[in-house]
Order: sequence, then C-alpha cells, then structure tokens
Amino acid sequence: MAERITGHTELIGLMAYPIRHSSSPAMHNEAFAQLGLDYAYLAFEVTNETLEDAVKGLRALQLKGSNVSMPNKTVVGQYLDELSPAAKLCGAVNTIVNENGKLIGHITDGIGYMASLKDNGIDVIGKKMTIAGAGGAATAIEIQAALDGVKEMSIFNIKDKFWENAEKTIEKIRSNTDCVVNLYDLDDKEKLKEEIADSYLFAQATGVGMKPLEGQSIIPDTSFLRPDLIVTDTVYAPRQTKLLEQAKEAGCKCMNGLGMMLFQGDAAFHLWTGKHMPIEHMKEVLD
Ligand code: NAD
Repeated sequence: MAERITGHTELIGLMAYPIRHSSSPAMHNEAFAQLGLDYAYLAFEVTNETLEDAVKGLRALQLKGSNVSMPNKTVVGQYLDELSPAAKLCGAVNTIVNENGKLIGHITDGIGYMASLKDNGIDVIGKKMTIAGAGGAATAIEIQAALDGVKEMSIFNIKDKFWENAEKTIEKIRSNTDCVVNLYDLDDKEKLKEEIADSYLFAQATGVGMKPLEGQSIIPDTSFLRPDLIVTDTVYAPRQTKLLEQAKEAGCKCMNGLGMMLFQGDAAFHLWTGKHMPIEHMKEVLD
C-alpha cells in the first residue's frame, strides 16, 4: 500500500452505514491493482445526518466519485447537480461521478443486472419477464429493463410497505417507456403461475431466500417452472437459494445475484475510470 499510494492517487469513496462488512472496497481495489490504475477505494461510515457534509467534502477534496449505499441511496440525490435518467426514475443513486466539479448521480444496480444477463448469453429485450419485488434491487431492475426495451413486465409483490412503491414504479414505467407493465399481489399464486407461464424470464428480487428468509421460496413448487424458462435471483448469499434449487430441478437456466453485484460495480468503475474491470479475474476472486 505504502508503495502504491502517491500524491497523484485518486480517491473513490463509499458512503453508507453500516458499511465495514462491504466487499466493494476489496473488489474495486483489486480491479485497480490488476489494471495498474492509480486509484484507491475506501469505505466511509456516513449516515443521513452526515451525508450533506460528506458530499460537500467530496466536492472540496475533488474526489473522482463515490458509491452510495443504505441508508443514503434515496436521500443523496438532493445534494447532487444532475441525475441519470434511471436514477431519476428510481429515485435512488448508488454511484456519484465528479465531472469537473459537477456531481452526477447514477444507479448501476439495474445496469448490473442487465449486463449479467448478457454475460450469461440471455437476451430479454423485446420479450416478457415476470419479476417479484418492489424494494431497491427490484425497482432498479424494473426501471432499467423497461428503459432497455423489455416488451412486457409483470411485477409481483406482497401487500407490505413496498406495495405503494411498486404502484409508483409502474406509473413511471408507463409514462416513460413503451414497456407494457402490470402489478399483481404475490400472494395470488394462481396469477403468478399464469404470468410465469408465458414469460421468457422469471426474476426473484425480494429478500426471500436470504437470511432471515433463507430456505424459503416465493413459488410453492416446481409446477410453476418449465425447462426453457430462465430463472434469476438477486440473492447471492447463499449462492444457491431454494428457488434456484427448484429451478435447477425443473431444468431451467439459472443465474444468482453474484453477476449483478459484479456488473453494478463494473458499471460504476467504468463511469469513474473509462475502463472495465478485468471481469474474468474478478469472477474468480469473488467466487
Ligand atoms: P428492500 O428491503 O429494498 O426490499 C425488500 C423486498 O422484499 C420488498 O419487495 C419486500 O416486499 C420483499 N419482501 C420482504 N419480505 C418478504 C416476504 N416474506 N415475502 C415476500 N416478499 C418479501 O431490499 P433490496 O435492497 O431490494 O434487496 C432485495 C434482495 O436483493 C436481497 O436479497 C438483497 O440481498 C438482494 N440484492 C442483491 C443485489 C446484487 O447486486 N445482487 C443488490 C441489491 C440487493
């Protein structure tokens, strides 16, 4: 480290709380080192209370950029100068880019999901997908998929505090894209089965499948699946959720959340440096 950091080294931050457990610093610093880029990535414990000062600090110190995670993703936009179309529609920012003093907010989670599909040879553009979820991850995927040209999307969520967000998301998709989108209750399993039946892809983007809901699945059994259906899960811990076990059993092509995590990082990395991460190397490191 002492040899690598010089007076020229550019700093990229990560502003969130709690954040010490994050794998993002290791991921980005590994990519910088592999490519010989003179950047360093550090995590900072920033809450909603200290966020405005932290952004002012980022400006004053002329940081190249920052990632933003919870609880700041939906709050930081007001302190920035401009938002990407997806960040505006999602109402959330996970990446700040300092373009000569102008702070631009982006959301790369949806970009990451779409890139991980592509990386797996999956092309959902012009097709129908069914997706469960209305939280941060799901909203980013839904907005990006609609912006990228998914033809039809059926969104399912339970009627909890996220339902209202799902209603807002479908309104935004309807008024800003050509995607045909509908919202259904995830507890209506008959409807879920019906929508999955004529979808090319089924995406799981709720917290079901990871702690404290590990071992659970949003589908009751494998009769909801068929071999030519693609099933993706945003969860990456565990790598193999109950849903992905069911999908494997049904003979579906499967994708866990690791690719989305890697490619959301790559999209941010590209915004800051103009270069892509060494993807194959990063996959080995992350696995
Ligand atoms: P969030 O808290 O914003 O949203 C939670 C979602 O889960 C909501 O849609 C909620 O209605 C749903 N939910 C909660 N309990 C449920 C239950 N018992 N039954 C059905 N639905 C339920 O969370 P988030 O940030 O959107 O994360 C969702 C999942 O995506 C998590 O598992 C997280 O690990 C994963 N994630 C992955 C990535 C990645 O890069 N792969 C990025 C972000 C989040």
